[in-house]
Amino acid sequence: MRTVPGSTDRVVVVGAGLGGLACALHLAAAGRQVTVVEREPIPGGRAGRLSVGGYEFDTGPTVLTMPELIEEPLAAVGEDLSDWLELRPLDPAYRAYYPDGSTLDVRTDTTRMAAEIAKVCGPREADGYLRFVDYTRRLWQLERDNFIDRNLDTPLDLMNLELLKLLGMGGFRRLQPKIDQFFRDPRTQRIFSFQAMYAGLSPHDALAIYAVIAYLDSVAGVYFPVGGMHAVPKALAGAAEKHGVTFRYDTTVERVSTANGRATGVVTAGGEHIPADVVVLNPDLPVAYRDLLPAKRQRRLRYSPSCVVLHIGSDRTYSKIAHHNIHFGKSWKGTFDEVINKGLLMSDPSLLVTNPSHSDPSAAPDGRQSYYVLAPAPNLEAAPLDWHGGLGKRYADEILGVLEDRGYIGFRDGVEVQRIVTPADWADQGMAAGTPFAAAHTFAQTGPFRPSNLHPTLSNVVFTGSGTQPGVGVPMVLISGKLAASRITGGTA
Ligand SMILES: Cc1cc2nc3c(=O)[nH]c(=O)nc-3n(C[C@H](O)[C@H](O)[C@H](O)COP(=O)(O)OP(=O)(O)OC[C@H]3O[C@@H](n4cnc5c(N)ncnc54)[C@H](O)[C@@H]3O)c2cc1C
Repeated sequence: MRTVPGSTDRVVVVGAGLGGLACALHLAAAGRQVTVVEREPIPGGRAGRLSVGGYEFDTGPTVLTMPELIEEPLAAVGEDLSDWLELRPLDPAYRAYYPDGSTLDVRTDTTRMAAEIAKVCGPREADGYLRFVDYTRRLWQLERDNFIDRNLDTPLDLMNLELLKLLGMGGFRRLQPKIDQFFRDPRTQRIFSFQAMYAGLSPHDALAIYAVIAYLDSVAGVYFPVGGMHAVPKALAGAAEKHGVTFRYDTTVERVSTANGRATGVVTAGGEHIPADVVVLNPDLPVAYRDLLPAKRQRRLRYSPSCVVLHIGSDRTYSKIAHHNIHFGKSWKGTFDEVINKGLLMSDPSLLVTNPSHSDPSAAPDGRQSYYVLAPAPNLEAAPLDWHGGLGKRYADEILGVLEDRGYIGFRDGVEVQRIVTPADWADQGMAAGTPFAAAHTFAQTGPFRPSNLHPTLSNVVFTGSGTQPGVGVPMVLISGKLAASRITGGTA
């Protein structure tokens, strides 16, 4: 494994996103003197918090999987997750709603889930589910140990027996035909393959190795942190501070200073130079290259689709919904095609509706509810739409109408507070192509082919976060923090 040469005592981490925080904890555990420089007044980055009129909203991730990956950076400094966070398993993890009016509850307990599938789709489908669980469990173990939780320097690092096993399991074929080997009912096919969208692709284009995302959330379990997802970065930052990490909030880094092929520190917007032996960059990777580092011709990346998020404080309660609800439209392949290839807004939307106050009443005033609606949308490269020019408001209204048609009676009238976040807002927050989901996980942007966590010429600049390896999402960026730290300490990742 390549590591940062020379002295690595003083490390500046730019950004207190989950990647930066995990990295800071692993570095503190290895005795490094760490300063985290964050432009916002709070940690978390995309896992931020919005408080409006007594309502509390998570601004980004809402589906928490693999809590053991939060445990890891805490354990590195000798802390126990349970002292910092209260995690509640969600049961059901999701409730899926289909256009024919049926619903399916996704349960973590495989026996109960098989029974649910048998009830809704029939016993043959339940058998397929049990085979799917076995397949994806093996896939996850193989991928995690050999390809995800490891620094990969070159494609040659992949050449091992495990790669042959992965090939043998059909991991490099397409996801949709793999899913179809287990499921025949369009409802189960959808609930176990829509997660390809998290990887920025349609199930017809994604590789079957991404079936592990369905494993992580539909089989391994979804959790709700008390206090919302933002409680996770708060916990990590609190533990880091306790173990000697210095935090400089409200401080924007303007550039990385360099001399003789090495970074010498960072320069803040206020003109201060913070010296460092190593600089770790957590901002969106292409933007870090563009704005913070000496000019260099950049590799062209293909980006994931983006999303529109509606934060809604409402006086309406819908007793039949769960914490996470997925409303599938009739269209399936066509929806991915519109959002990813044609640069169009969904004509027959599939939507995620999260109702945090369902599990945590403190997320809304008494008798009120908070809702978070996520609609996949094209990124700004696929469709440079005029989001600032009123489209956001019009599209939000259209989504509310769709939800009313799908059973949220009086949703529009119940709105007391509304915030709309569009691809233009993600771009304003410093995310390339206006997507918070980074480069898509195509084969050419996966594993050792994804942008490296080492800078090609500045030997002491390291990247962490969703733009580098292993990829996007809370579990992956927590791993990326550990991988970045191990580039610096030389320790095993
Ligand atoms: C709407 C939405 C829904 C999502 N849903 C899920 C989900 O349900 N489950 C899941 O697992 N994942 C989900 N994700 C993805 C997940 O949130 C991200 O992959 C992850 O949080 C990214 O973390 P990061 O450390 O890479 O970057 P970030 O969180 O973006 O952190 C980067 C940090 O750098 C700071 N920064 C940037 N530039 C500078 C500068 N110049 N100077 C100082 N500081 C700077 C930023 O303020 C930020 O704090 C979602 C994301 C979004 C936005």
